[in-house]
Amino acid sequence: MNNEEKKEGGKLYIVGVGPGNPRIRTLEAIESIKKSNVIVAYTTYAELIKDLTEGKEVITAKMKEEIFRTKVSVEKALEGNVVSLVSSGDPQVYGMAGLTLEYICRKGINLDVEIVPGVTAANAAAARLGSPLSLDYVVLSLSDLLIPREEILHKAKMATLGDFVIVLYNPINKPLLLETMKIIRENRKEDTPVGIVKKAYRENEKDIITNLKDWEKYVNEIDMITTIIVGNSRTFVCNGKMITPRGYSNKYEF
Ligand code: SAH
Repeated sequence: MNNEEKKEGGKLYIVGVGPGNPRIRTLEAIESIKKSNVIVAYTTYAELIKDLTEGKEVITAKMKEEIFRTKVSVEKALEGNVVSLVSSGDPQVYGMAGLTLEYICRKGINLDVEIVPGVTAANAAAARLGSPLSLDYVVLSLSDLLIPREEILHKAKMATLGDFVIVLYNPINKPLLLETMKIIRENRKEDTPVGIVKKAYRENEKDIITNLKDWEKYVNEIDMITTIIVGNSRTFVCNGKMITPRGYSNKYEF
C-alpha cells in the first residue's frame, strides 16, 4: 500500500474470527484481514490467525489491555491505514466492538468502521453438544471485572426463573461459577442437561454432557476457553446429543 492510498483510505474493521479454527471463519473475516495492513489482536488470537497476517504489521496486547488495543487501532486507522482489530468468536459478544464504537463516539472521532460478525462460542459449543439453543436462551458472562457479581447472580436467577437455556461464558472464576450453578440448581430439576465444551474446534477439545446433579465432577476441566450450556425444563439428551425442542412434536405428528 503506498502513502497516497493510505491517506485516502483509513478504515477500521472489527473482525470476529470464530472459535479458533480456520475452518469456522467467515469469508468476510478472511477478506477484511487480507485487506488490512495493520492487525491488532490479543496475543493468543494473533497466534490463531498467523496464516493470514504474514507481511503485515501485527500489534499484540495481553488480556486486560482492551483499551490499549482500541486506542492503537483507532490511531492507526486515522493515520490512513486499513486496520483489522480482531476478536475471537463474534466481536460484539464480550469482544472489542462495543468498547471501540463507544470510544469513537465519546471522543467524537470521524472514522470508517465496519463490524465483521463471527461464529460466537455459544453457537460453536452448542453445535458440538447437539442443538441446545433451539428455543429462547440467555448468554451470561461470569466475568466480574467490569460488572458486579451481585448483578451477574441476579441475572442468573432471572434467566433461571424465566426458563431460558443459559449459556455461561468466562467460567474461570470458580467461586462465582459455583454460586451461579447453585442458583440455577435450586430452581431447576436435578436431571437438567448441562453441556461443558472446552476449546471448541481447537486442539485438545473436550465436550461433556452431564446434568445439574453431577456437573461438579467436571469442575476441574473448566478453564478460560470453556463454555457451559445449561438446558431448560424441555431440554433432553438423545443419541448423545443435547436437544431443546422448539415444540414441533407437541403440535405435529412425526
Ligand atoms: N467474543 C467471543 C467471546 C469472548 S469472551 C465469542 O463471541 O465467542 C471469552 C469466553 O468465550 C471464554 O471464557 C469462553 O467462555 C468462550 N470461548 C471462546 N472461545 C471458545 C472455544 N473455542 N470453546 C469454548 N469456549 C470458548
